Amino acid sequence: MQTTLSRPIDFHGLGLHSGKPVNMRIRPAPADTGVVFVRTDVTSKNNKIPARIENVSSTVLCTRVANEDGVSVGTIEHVLAGLTACGIHNAYIDVDQDESPALDGSALPLVQQILEVGLQELPQPLRTIKVLKPVRVESPDGVSATLEPSIRTEMSFAIDFPEPIGSQQQSLDLSNGAIVRNLAFCRTFVLKPMIEELQKNGFGLGGNEANVIIADVENKQFICQLRERDEACRHKMLDAVGDLTLAGHPIIGKFTGLRSGHRTTISLIRKLLADKTAHQMIVANEETAATLPGAGTKRHDIPNI
Ligand SMILES: [Zn+2]
Repeated sequence: MQTTLSRPIDFHGLGLHSGKPVNMRIRPAPADTGVVFVRTDVTSKNNKIPARIENVSSTVLCTRVANEDGVSVGTIEHVLAGLTACGIHNAYIDVDQDESPALDGSALPLVQQILEVGLQELPQPLRTIKVLKPVRVESPDGVSATLEPSIRTEMSFAIDFPEPIGSQQQSLDLSNGAIVRNLAFCRTFVLKPMIEELQKNGFGLGGNEANVIIADVENKQFICQLRERDEACRHKMLDAVGDLTLAGHPIIGKFTGLRSGHRTTISLIRKLLADKTAHQMIVANEETAATLPGAGTKRHDIPNI
């Protein structure tokens, strides 16, 4: 069975990269819509951009999707991750800029509001993508991402940054409320020397201490209180959850990321979907549907942070 939200919810905040104020409304959509962004500020062209892998137009610093008219929206990964965390399969997302609002740098504000209004079940069957054999994307610098068969949706991730982040790794079964309990509250992060560089190039203009964890490499400390010791690794997992949503259907399998980012995850999804021997579209039976990420997630799954 598919789901959507029971009623619209509104958000307002700064675009992480543009620094401009953005209004975002997430609203119910019929079955088989998937997630579709709607640029309400665009009136002279097609303003609908389905959040689908074939529409990914850039993976530099964030994930961006564009339609055939070149109308695009960026920094969509945390929004998609928030929907997946709550088990939402269909939604329209109105934005009046070319970027979604950063909010607190995590998916927590979305999850809080979505679980507050609740879900609406739609009678149409839910299709899933079952991974049948390992698929891997690797680059010469050792960055890699792999999807392999598993009866559940699982994720392992490892990162390696200068201190104070250092080497971190985490493995999770993402069934049911696991994303909300373990990942949704984890904020985006940046190394302090990179901030000035990014802003000089017109990125990260909406980033501040309220929505980005700043890692002060020189003094080996964070310029804020962490919500979790390995918050950086968990945020990378949240990003991967968001990017995997672009496959269009829940993926049943195990994702392993080694220092991977948006580009690698997107390449991996493309490789999986291009190989008919590596995946199978199946309608989720009741037993499978009951363990998918987000299934049965409730407000009490949100941790106290
Ligand atoms: Zn992120």
